[in-house]
Amino acid sequence: MVNQALLQVKDLTKSFGGVRAVDHVNLALAHGELRCLIGPNGAGKSTLFSLLSGLQKPDAGQIIFKGKDITSLPPFRRVQKGLCQKFQTTRVYRGLTMAQNLFIARRVGRGIENRNHRLDWALKTLGLEAQAERPAGELPHSHQQWLEICMALATEPELLLLDEPTAGMTPEEAALTAQFVIGLNSQGMTVIIVEHDMAFVRQIARFVTVLHYGSIFAEGPLAEIESNQDVRRIYLGER
Ligand code: ADP
Ligand code: MG
Repeated sequence: MVNQALLQVKDLTKSFGGVRAVDHVNLALAHGELRCLIGPNGAGKSTLFSLLSGLQKPDAGQIIFKGKDITSLPPFRRVQKGLCQKFQTTRVYRGLTMAQNLFIARRVGRGIENRNHRLDWALKTLGLEAQAERPAGELPHSHQQWLEICMALATEPELLLLDEPTAGMTPEEAALTAQFVIGLNSQGMTVIIVEHDMAFVRQIARFVTVLHYGSIFAEGPLAEIESNQDVRRIYLGER
C-alpha cells in the first residue's frame, strides 16, 4: 500500500485496577508526521507511550508498525524495528560518560557500524559535543534530557516518542528543544511528542491529539484545538 500509515493503533486498552488508563484508543500516524499529544495530568499519555514502546502490555487492542503487528513484541525488538521512546523521567546511566551512554544506545539499536550523521547533527545542535567525556550524572538536568533524546536517536528510530522532553527546562532551553524537534522532523523523522506546556505546543504548531480519561477527546490542527470550547474547559482552562 502506498499510503500505509507508519503507526496504527486499534482499540488499545489498558486498565490499572479500576482505572482505565487507556480506553479504546484509535490512532493513525503517517510517515513524516509530527504529532503533539496533550491532555490533563493522568489522561493516559505516558501509559499510551508505554504500550507503544512495549513496557506495558495492553489488555486489548493492536499496535501496527510499518504494516506489522508488534503488539506482543518486547521493547528491545521494537527498538530494533525503529520505534524508540524518550521517557518522562530521564534514564541515563549517571555514572557513565555521555559518550558511553550513546555507545550503549547504539548497541541496543541498529548497530555501531556506520557513522550516525543524524546523531552528530543532534549533538551539535543541542550543544552537547563538548560534554562527551563528562559523567552523565554531572550534567545539568536539561542536558540529561537532551542526552536521552540523543540516546533515542542513537538507536536510529523511524518513529520517535518524546514524553515531556522539556520538563524542568528554562523557556530558552524549551524553545531550543522545539526548534530541534522541528528540525528533526523536517529531516523526515516521524515524531509523537507529549507536552503539558502549551507554549511549547504552540511553537511546534502541528496536528494535535487530546487525550482525556484514557480516550481521544479531540483531534485536529492546533488552531482548531485551541478554539475548541470543550478542550478549553478540560485542559486549557485549568491552567
Ligand atoms: P499522563 O501521562 O497523561 O499524566 P498516565 O498515563 O501517567 O497519565 O496515567 C494515567 C492513569 O493511569 C492515572 O490515573 C495513573 O494514576 C494511572 N497509572 C499509570 N501508571 C500506573 C501504574 N503503573 N499502576 C497503577 N496506575 C497507573
Ligand atoms: Mg505522563
